Amino acid sequence: CGIVGYIGHREAYPVIIKGLKRLEYRGYDSAGLVLCEDGKFNLSKTKGKVSDLEAKAEKELSLKGTVGMGHTRWATHGVPNDVNSHPHFSNSGELVIIHNGIIENYEPLKKELMNRGYVFHSDTDTEVLVNLIEEVQKKDNLKLGKAVQVALNQVIGAYAIAVMDTKTPEEMVVARLGSPLAIGIGEDEFFVASDASPFIEYTTNAIYLEDEEMAIVRLHKPMKVRKIKDNSLVDPYIQQLQM
Ligand code: GLU
Repeated sequence: CGIVGYIGHREAYPVIIKGLKRLEYRGYDSAGLVLCEDGKFNLSKTKGKVSDLEAKAEKELSLKGTVGMGHTRWATHGVPNDVNSHPHFSNSGELVIIHNGIIENYEPLKKELMNRGYVFHSDTDTEVLVNLIEEVQKKDNLKLGKAVQVALNQVIGAYAIAVMDTKTPEEMVVARLGSPLAIGIGEDEFFVASDASPFIEYTTNAIYLEDEEMAIVRLHKPMKVRKIKDNSLVDPYIQQLQM
């Protein structure tokens, strides 16, 4: 399983597809991606290989956009099929997530959300998480980063996630606990991935998030790394990768 995200000035699609191929060694049963073109988030996902995703995306999408996220799934909750593949949108369609790992307490969270009127389209634990973030965000009118932080404090499990709010496509929020997550820092561009292999050809400046850390990655703004537990700022260690 793996995740790749890009925000910058290049076409995101080739970065994502190449990146997902480099993460294939991690194992997976499905693949998917979302690309933001002119503020609209276009989705393509499928059971099968990254090459199957490529074939499908080339049919379904314009493949344009300089912002996007891609995912390879190793199913833990819900069979491998197109619907359970990531990315997953929240009920309003405003939030979109990719996730590697397991949300162990997804059942009580899902019940609670269903009581509040949320509808679920997949059998994944991940769709519960994206709707939990939405619920938290809507309830107190929070910014995405704060909503992710509050929601993750209600979650038991393991994760590497990347979340976007379709209203703010220049921003991506990532977090990790138990699954790896690296951030590549280029010039006016950011990469996020399960390891550095998807972005090492573009930048050798990388931050490896520690467990229980999250980062708010914004174009043309300083990146912020915070502790998930108490939202305190962390001074991130920028590594120089060897090509
Ligand atoms: N638990 C999630 C699912 O089953 C993510 C699995 C993964 O790590 O790819 O969809």
